Parts: sequence; C-alpha cells; structure tokens
Amino acid sequence: MSIKALKFGGSSLADAEHFKKVAAIIKADESRRYVVASAPGKRYADDIKVTDMLYACFKAVRKKQDIEPHFAKIEQRYNQIISELGIDFSLDEEFAKIKYAINHYVGEDYIASRGEYLNSMILAKYLGFDFIDAEDGIFFKENGTFDSERTNDELSAILLQHERAVIPGFYGTMPNGTIKTFSRGGSDITGSIVARAVDAELYENWTDVSGMLMADPRIVKNPKVIRVITYNELRELSYMGATVLHDEAIFPVREARIPINIRNTNAPEDEGTMIVPFADKPNENVITGVAGKVGFSIINIDKSMMNSEVGFGKKVLKVIENHEICFEHLPSGIDTMSVVVSTSDIDAIREDMVNEMFRKTKADYINIEDGLALIAVVGRSMVSQIGTAGRVFSALGNAGVNIKMIDQGSSELSIIVGVNEAEYATTINAIYKEFVKTNE
Ligand code: ADP
Ligand code: ASP
Ligand code: MG
Repeated sequence: MSIKALKFGGSSLADAEHFKKVAAIIKADESRRYVVASAPGKRYADDIKVTDMLYACFKAVRKKQDIEPHFAKIEQRYNQIISELGIDFSLDEEFAKIKYAINHYVGEDYIASRGEYLNSMILAKYLGFDFIDAEDGIFFKENGTFDSERTNDELSAILLQHERAVIPGFYGTMPNGTIKTFSRGGSDITGSIVARAVDAELYENWTDVSGMLMADPRIVKNPKVIRVITYNELRELSYMGATVLHDEAIFPVREARIPINIRNTNAPEDEGTMIVPFADKPNENVITGVAGKVGFSIINIDKSMMNSEVGFGKKVLKVIENHEICFEHLPSGIDTMSVVVSTSDIDAIREDMVNEMFRKTKADYINIEDGLALIAVVGRSMVSQIGTAGRVFSALGNAGVNIKMIDQGSSELSIIVGVNEAEYATTINAIYKEFVKTNE
C-alpha cells in the first residue's frame, strides 16, 4: 500500500471543529497513515497559540511567579477540545506531570514541546491511531544540530512497526536525554523527517491557505497560488519570510525526492501547491514569488584602495565571526564593502564590533544603518528571461522606492533588494503588480 505522511499546523488543530475536519481528511484516503501534529494555534486573530502560552509559563517561573493562572488556560484549551470531540479521555495526569516539571525548573524547550505532545495524544485517541513520542525517534547531536542519519534509522524502525500513527511535531531528544525543539514553525521539519523515515510517496502539509501564494496575503490582496515550485525556489522564499513552510523542511524530503503538497484544511478540494525536485515547465509569470523580511542592518566599511588589499574581506568577516554573527549579504564596491546582518544579532555588541573592525581593518570609515528590509524576487525562469532585473528596478523606480542594496546569486534563482523598512509593503506590491496581471 502506498504511504502518505501528513502534517497539520496549529491553525488546523486549534479547536474541536478543526479536529473534525482533520479526521475527515485523514479518513478519506487510507494511504494517509503517519500524521504529525502541531500545538493548538490561534482560533481568531488576537487569540494566543498554546506554544506562546507555554513560553509564558517558562518566563513566569523564572521570575518566581505563580504559573497557575497561565497553566489553567492551557488545560482549559485542551479540555475544551476533548469535551467537544466527545471522547473518553483525560490529560489530567499529564497536566500534573508537566506542571511539576515546570515548577522544578525544567528547560524551556521541554515546556514549549508539550503543546504538540498533548495535542498529538488527543488526535491519536480521536483517530484510533497509535501515539509515537518524537522523543523516542528524533535526535539531535551534541552541538545541537539535527542528527539526520540516526533519526532516519531509528524512526524508520519504530514507525514501520505501526500501521497508523500520530507523532508530535517540533521536538526531539539531545544525547543527554533532554528535550530540544527546532526553531519556531518546526513541526514542518518533523513532517518532512517522518515522510523520509516511512519512505512516503508524498508529504502533505495541511495549513490554512490553499497553497504557497506568490506573495504574503497580509501584504498583497488575493495573491495567486503557486501551482508548482521547486525545492530550491521554496527555500529561497520561505527563508525570506514566506512562512507557510519552514525553510529547513525541505532537507529530509529532498534527499529522498519526496514531493510536498501544501493543502488547505478548510478547503480540502483545492489542489494546493506541489513542491518538487525539478519543474519542467517555465513559470508563466516569469517570477515564482516574492517575499521579504524587515529587521536588518547594513554595516558599511570604507577604505581607499581596499580593492588591491589582499585579505581585506577576510579581516572584516573574521570580526563578524568573532561575534558569532551570521551575515545575509556582502555587497561591495571598489573602496567599500558592506555586510548585511540581522539587527537583533548585533544589538548588544555593535559598539565592540565596530571598534574591533576599525582596529583590524584600519578602515577610513565604518557606519551601521538600521531599518533595512530585504525582499527576494524568486523564479527558476528568471535565468532564461532577459530583462527581469530591469523590470524589478523600473517597477520600484516608478513606485518611488529607493533601492539601498542589490544582490543576485550566481544561480540567478533570486534577486534580492534592500529598501527602507517604511517602503517594505510598497516594494512587494510594486514587484507583484509588475509580473502578475491584476484587474486593478
Ligand atoms: P500552520 O499553523 O499551518 O503551520 P502558518 O501560520 O505557519 O500555518 O503558515 C500559514 C500562514 O503563512 C498563512 O496563513 C499566511 O498568513 C502566511 N504566509 C506568509 N507568506 C505566505 C505565502 N507566500 N503563501 C502562503 N501563506 C503565506
Ligand atoms: N508550535 C510550534 C510553534 O508555534 C511549532 C509549529 O507550529 O510548527 O512554533
Ligand atoms: Mg507553521
């Protein structure tokens, strides 16, 4: 029998109504056998995700505050789901264990992970599937990175003993037995790990939109759905803020060449987006999508004759490395070099870093500009279309946007522009309108 692995996001498991939709989807296809669940997400715009409520418990206990008011709300969310589903099931013992652990200063990751743990227990019970704890089959290495080979061997052996199972997303185990989570949105990664472990023919990622959209729907009105996108394009877009799928979620399935299908739990009849290793057809709009993020800073370093100074770039990057910062882009000119970094990464160390950079590089001038937004225009078809960059720049010129930085990777899969944060939405809308014919 063919096997499909599925992941349901927090928005798809926020309340009992959604649990019912999820069960109907799973029961509609008997190859849907391995299901990864997230913690309950938002039920309405200003609701709070259970994961955020758990982080709040952690903060409260560190401040020596009573966690009871926080934890009571979490219990209530799960109890309401259980009672509205009408199942004979109680999480009271689990609640007591978790509360005890929180009050005894267990780690933040353990606390955060309980959101998916509890929700998966309910879903397994409701579906009549086995519950398999992610802590038994998903492993991290000593340095905190994901241990893909150990995980694949052990998880595969466990899961294939079960005909049908629910696995909590978002976490795994460190070599010393403590729980560690992936970064936020990490249940998408668990879904991909499970798909690989069971050698699924397809990884269905069920969420609250009918696929990956050409732009963030909170910025562009009614953006078009992307029907087919490659792993590489998706990674560029999701890394740059198209958060519908975690950017690291493609790695496990890419190795096994398992396609991902993004689907809408609230509109299961929609085909959604297929994420595939290679696409044979070009994109009708030339670009596949546009995405962006705010919160970047640009460090500008000027020094006359820098172009003929062997090893200048190395000295700059060494300082960045000494402060354990990852950089995003490195645009450069004859006498200038710039490093684009996340503002939150440099906030606490900016003065030290600039002083060290002056000392090590003997630069004439160094300054840091904050408030930069980065926008990625992504498309596999851009490489064969002359003039794409020109269209991006003239669209931005016509919209009155000042471009502060440009970067194009050698693969020509993306063009990145840096603009003032205040022009973030204008930039995304201008690029979208340039490539997609809208009726407005
Ligand atoms: P889940 O709870 O299923 O994990 P997420 O909230 O993580 O869902 O991701 C889905 C959300 O991602 C959508 O509701 C949408 O607001 C947002 N989003 C941002 N950019 C895009 C995009 N390009 N395409 C689709 N959704 C996007
Ligand atoms: N619940 C976690 C979060 O809110 C993981 C996830 O939803 O994928 O980040
Ligand atoms: Mg998500």
